Amino acid sequence: MNFSGKKVAILGGARSGIACANLLESLGAKVFLSEIRQKDEIKELKKLNKNIQTEFGEHSKEILNSDLVIPSPGVPLNLPVLEETKKRNIPIFSELEIAYRLINPKQVIAITGTNGKSTTVTLLGEIFRQAKEKKALTSKVIVAGNIGYPLSAAVKKINSDTVLILEVSSYQLELIEKFRPHIAVILNLTPDHLERHQSLENYAKIKARIYENQNKDDFCIFNADDHYCKELAKDCPSQSIFFSRQKKLTEGVFFNGKKIVVNLSTYLPRRQAGQPINLSPALKIPGPHNLENVLVAVAVAVIAKIPEAIILRTINSFPGLEHRLEFVREVKGIKFINDSKATNPDSVLVALKSFNKKLILIMGGRDKGLPYTPLIPLIKEKVKALLLIGEAEEKIAYELQGTTQIIPCGTLKKAVKEAYRITRKGEIVLLSPACASFDQFRDFEQRGKIFKNLVKKL
Ligand code: ADP
Repeated sequence: MNFSGKKVAILGGARSGIACANLLESLGAKVFLSEIRQKDEIKELKKLNKNIQTEFGEHSKEILNSDLVIPSPGVPLNLPVLEETKKRNIPIFSELEIAYRLINPKQVIAITGTNGKSTTVTLLGEIFRQAKEKKALTSKVIVAGNIGYPLSAAVKKINSDTVLILEVSSYQLELIEKFRPHIAVILNLTPDHLERHQSLENYAKIKARIYENQNKDDFCIFNADDHYCKELAKDCPSQSIFFSRQKKLTEGVFFNGKKIVVNLSTYLPRRQAGQPINLSPALKIPGPHNLENVLVAVAVAVIAKIPEAIILRTINSFPGLEHRLEFVREVKGIKFINDSKATNPDSVLVALKSFNKKLILIMGGRDKGLPYTPLIPLIKEKVKALLLIGEAEEKIAYELQGTTQIIPCGTLKKAVKEAYRITRKGEIVLLSPACASFDQFRDFEQRGKIFKNLVKKL
């Protein structure tokens, strides 16, 4: 695709918008960056190339004066100016699609799903890097996409010998045309972002776009334990491969209670000569959900011909991501876990299922309007005391009354102190807030860091 002299409008001046603007400008395009926030609210702005034209506080009609429009993931597609763009037949693509057209890597692996994308992509990146270090792989490995490193920022580092591992969101897939990963993954599908995608069916259709340009030489990996994933597999044009945490599969990757079994003999007959691979995992990352992420990483790595010994060693040593059930410290036999990324009740459910010991749970923050009542059975079963912080204190206390001892603490500092006072040896203190952080913190990262600092001072 030749961008020289092309007029391109980019909507949204966050990380991916700025990376894409800089990339296209360096390729000779006349870039116009339109951002709804005011100039002084955008901390990434200093990274924008100087001669890029900008507007702030609105998405004006100037956008219509373009050959191509690229909305950032957070921009609603029903904006009047985008409706008008469509009417005028001006192409609208995501940053992912545009950056993809500028690269020609050896292999593209793309992972989507409602939950677990970042964990899986990071683990896979680690497996491939270990393989490279051990000289089992010669290619360069790049992890990019929705994981904080936009593909546009990586484009110039990608060559024909690069293995590219991408985290892709539904917002990006909604605006693709040619994007075609060699190995695609749909991890799971649960209601999320429905304010944008209207219905779960529509959301599922958008996720399915990850395989729409694939053919029989490609692979798409699906979760056999997930109803919607199984439905999507029916229309898949590439080779569908299933993974399951809960049941044995005749073909695919599954956990049999003790071992991870990989049987891809139909797909990879020459490599394994029909012999299934058995891996005995001893994972550091807790919980059934993380086992699913591991199964996916194993499936992709086997298809990509990474040696089993490297796969096993890496899945067993992987510490997980910061703020996601992150082990912080053990003090006097009490383990402290930081799960600040758990910003909704569903994530707290996942966290509670991950531990078999008595828990002291810290919840609260800015309420998102979601009910806390689905947590009742697991709180009754596992939580010795519930410590509450932030704006949502009263609502949570009301909805969960009678389940366990509930102690309003106001601040995280007081909650950590109280938790340490009441917790006994062998128990776990878990920060898994079920709420947004913005009432008391800049973001969930800051909340997690402050928690870790408080714990380190105990
Ligand atoms: P994403 O990038 O899709 O947001 P992360 O790997 O950052 O996913 O994990 C975010 C949260 O999603 C975790 O804290 C955990 O609560 C939950 N989670 C992670 N993996 C899974 C999974 N495979 N299934 C269900 N929930 C998961």
